[in-house]
Amino acid sequence: MAKVLLIAEHDGTKLNAGTAKVLACCADLGAEGVDVLVSGADGAGLDGVCAQAAALAGVSRVLRNADARNAAPLAAILAPQIADLAAGYGYVLGPSTTFGKDLLPRVAALLGAPALSDIMKVLGPRSFERPIYAGNAILTVSVPDGAPVVGTVRVASYKAVGEQAPAPVEAVSSSAELPGHTRFVELRAGSRDRPDLQSANKVVSGGRGVGSSENFRLIFELADKLGAAAGASRAAVDAGFVPNDMQVGQTGKVVAPELYIAVGISGAIQHLAGIKDAGTIVAVNKDADAPIFEVADIGLVADLFEAVPALVKALP
Ligand code: FAD
Repeated sequence: MAKVLLIAEHDGTKLNAGTAKVLACCADLGAEGVDVLVSGADGAGLDGVCAQAAALAGVSRVLRNADARNAAPLAAILAPQIADLAAGYGYVLGPSTTFGKDLLPRVAALLGAPALSDIMKVLGPRSFERPIYAGNAILTVSVPDGAPVVGTVRVASYKAVGEQAPAPVEAVSSSAELPGHTRFVELRAGSRDRPDLQSANKVVSGGRGVGSSENFRLIFELADKLGAAAGASRAAVDAGFVPNDMQVGQTGKVVAPELYIAVGISGAIQHLAGIKDAGTIVAVNKDADAPIFEVADIGLVADLFEAVPALVKALP
């Protein structure tokens, strides 16, 4: 039996919801223990993140890796420290988010281990399932003996674990040499007023049918009324209606909300790949033959410019 080093994602004060989902994957591994590594700049924010991680069920210890150079989560800076701190662990895992997808392959390379991505099911200690071809086929992947299992866990495939009495928090540090070629310059983020797309319980997405950047305010209004995150199809992103961090789908974000509302989206296979794990799918489309209606639980054949304002008005 081996131990897991779970790499926590956070924004300096709040632990990303993905950590609680990776812990559910760790429970399936039947590992000897799970240590959560929280890296960041020293301070109350880091303490808060460590406390949030310590309270998650299944955590054995929280390892607090405070260093001013970790103030921004740069994969190039974090990877050598993680590779150094990973000695003795059988698994190094993180969420399959932008953060995890950037970081874990670098850690694998530094450890000379194969990189495993998008674990969606644990079949055995070194055997996993992961999706390929936009989720239309499932691959069984076995990691050879001798190397640690380093990879990302598809957060949409797991439910968050509950809470426990807080696990101990211990300070760790790494003496790994850090590269000088990458430094943090600036963070330009979209609106932070809405929930994070990948961990939201409700998502409202707009497609090409929305027609313009200005019209996307309808999507935002509906999302805000519902307390939902806002997403988009690739066609809407490519048309420049919204930034590409809102893209849902095969080459965008994979979401798993309880409620997904697709407005003016046809339901191309690449879009559906991002919403396979959504609970209830609602579609608003003026074309009754749009493929989105084949997967929708509730379908409304209507002009979105009438239906969405009416919906916003009707909601409390
Ligand atoms: P369209 O297919 O043009 O559909 C627009 C819909 O709006 C239509 O169904 C229309 O009936 C409806 N509509 C128009 N006006 C109104 C109105 N007034 N009221 C109501 N409904 C209206 N796509 C993604 O979304 N995510 C991905 O990650 C992604 N990855 C891709 C990767 C690859 C390799 C490739 C080849 C494609 C990928 N795509 C992806 C693109 C995908 O194939 C589709 O082109 C795209 O999803 C279409 O977006 P859409 O549904 O908004 O646009």
